[in-house]
Amino acid sequence: MNCTFCDTNKIKETTTNYERNIKGVKYIIRNVPALFCETCGDYYFDDKIVKFIKNEFIKKENNQEDKFVRITNYEDLKNM
Ligand SMILES: [Zn+2]
Repeated sequence: MNCTFCDTNKIKETTTNYERNIKGVKYIIRNVPALFCETCGDYYFDDKIVKFIKNEFIKKENNQEDKFVRITNYEDLKNM
């Protein structure tokens, strides 16, 4: 497959951290499967993975605790 931005095929399968701020809470998911483009120097995530993570974020948000940073592993998220 080629990079969506630069159209080269220097894409590697890897894992990286996914970070997002939702209403002042920072979520960090470790070891998320990602693609890395050597040309752009950028990571991307599969749409399905992004949707999955967002769904998990929404679930967590309905269950707020007094924490400003939440860190979890992608594998743990899948087992919730
Ligand atoms: Zn690229």
